[in-house]
Amino acid sequence: MKEITDRRITVAIDGYSSSGKSTMARELARRVGYLYVDSGAMYRAVTLYALRHGMIGADRTVDTDALISALPSIRISFAHPGADGVQHTMLNGEDVEREIRDMQVSENVSPVAAIPEVRERLVALQQEFGKDKGIVMDGRDIGTTVFPDAELKIFVCASAEERARRRLKELLEKDEQATYQEVYDNVVERDRIDTTRAVSPLRKAPGAIELDNGTMTRGEQMQWLLEKFNEATDE
Ligand code: C5P
Repeated sequence: MKEITDRRITVAIDGYSSSGKSTMARELARRVGYLYVDSGAMYRAVTLYALRHGMIGADRTVDTDALISALPSIRISFAHPGADGVQHTMLNGEDVEREIRDMQVSENVSPVAAIPEVRERLVALQQEFGKDKGIVMDGRDIGTTVFPDAELKIFVCASAEERARRRLKELLEKDEQATYQEVYDNVVERDRIDTTRAVSPLRKAPGAIELDNGTMTRGEQMQWLLEKFNEATDE
């Protein structure tokens, strides 16, 4: 009979923007009783702070010096304010979960995330969240930089068209104004910046298992992920 193990592991889920990785990661964490951390939300919260403090120009140039100086006063945390258990991102104690998902933040986040000092600070915070294992974190550099020793690494991909369709649906469900073309252009532009930046570019980590979820239902993705999780905890 198979022995039941209680080995808590680290799960790193990376992939392109709007590939559905957050949904998968959150659901896996809920099912197995792990902590879930959306690292993209952290980059988004820093971007919102920079926008609110006039550190990003209309041409999307970031006042890097001002933002680096402000980093010590940017506190990011997560809270579960509702009965539904959904995680909300907090910026200096304010619930910014909704605001960080809007198009203005999406359009400015990748240049902010390319600043090495921003990454250094957020990576340290992410590693602190994961120090006791039992965590599922999704992002772009989780398997390569944040948790290179993660026992389970997943790399999610799907076509830009499919990802833009999904993202637009999400935005419209939240009554956000956006067109397919705007969302598609944003997805492609973020892919470009995320894969070509100098520090921790988006890459499939060594040992990562690739998942092309373009034609899979959410249920099929979850079943696939749970199988991989069970294999990883059994090893
Ligand atoms: O995952 P999400 O699309 O919300 O991430 C927003 C942006 O944050 C990405 O486009 C990327 O520029 C940045 N990011 C990152 N590293 C991570 C997570 C997100 O650079 N680990």
